[in-house]
Amino acid sequence: ERLRLDGSVAYVTGAGQGIGRAFAHALGEAGAKVAVVDLVLAKAQAVACELSLKGIKSLALAADVSKPEDVQRMVDAIVARWGTVHIACNNAGINLNSASEETSLEEWDKTFNVNLRGLFLCCQAAGRIMLNQGYGKIINTASMASLIVPHPQKQLAYNASKAGVVKLTQTLGTEWIDRGVKVNCISPGIVDTPLICSQELRPLVRRWLSDIPAGRLAQPTDLQAAVVYLASEASDYMTGHNLVIEGGQSLW
Ligand code: NAD
Repeated sequence: ERLRLDGSVAYVTGAGQGIGRAFAHALGEAGAKVAVVDLVLAKAQAVACELSLKGIKSLALAADVSKPEDVQRMVDAIVARWGTVHIACNNAGINLNSASEETSLEEWDKTFNVNLRGLFLCCQAAGRIMLNQGYGKIINTASMASLIVPHPQKQLAYNASKAGVVKLTQTLGTEWIDRGVKVNCISPGIVDTPLICSQELRPLVRRWLSDIPAGRLAQPTDLQAAVVYLASEASDYMTGHNLVIEGGQSLW
């Protein structure tokens, strides 16, 4: 009962595939209306369509989370449609892969612009609405890489940006809790999504498997209950928390 989200308005960024898509389904199935946001409108529309077929109220929006005008337009569109925002799922992130000594400033900036600046912009735009209404749940997607340095290396900008996500979450989580806004993050281990297929990372999967006590990669579905919990009143006493879901990998 306390895990139901009926009547709530949620958005999920990077929801066109992978983890964000799974989050959008989970929030919708728990009763929320869901704005499906992605850089690529067609991907957002496809997922919004999947939700509609399940009877979930959905809205597809294109936004580049690293651009302040896009983020404001996203929040304005949700408020115009459904009146407010209760649940902000800031999930969009990228992982560019290069040896640290070869990482270009362009790669560094791109990673930080999406993974950290994007999160700041989304937390601020959604947070202003939530602070005004005295209620809100923000769920950021960090990574196990915020805690450990998963091998192989070549993830300098990514790892640093995800550590930043955790500190941003802790800071906002404590700053806003007395005004009813809880800010937490989820740190997945290695999840079977296009993010890890689309790069040279795929051949490394076998090596990673030996690092995971659970003996398998995570599926996006392994993260669904966590996002519903953090979005619901059941987690009202929780803020600034980094919920790690990695099959034990960070302990080995
Ligand atoms: P993915 O690449 O499969 O999907 C990401 C989605 O975000 C894509 O649809 C993409 O179009 C969208 N996107 C990219 N840049 C964007 C931008 N600037 N604005 C809006 N949307 C944008 O990724 P995923 O594996 O589902 O990862 C989602 C989140 O989870 C990321 O933050 C990632 O860092 C994090 N994560 C993933 C893993 C993993 O193993 N897959 C592990 C830990 C954390």
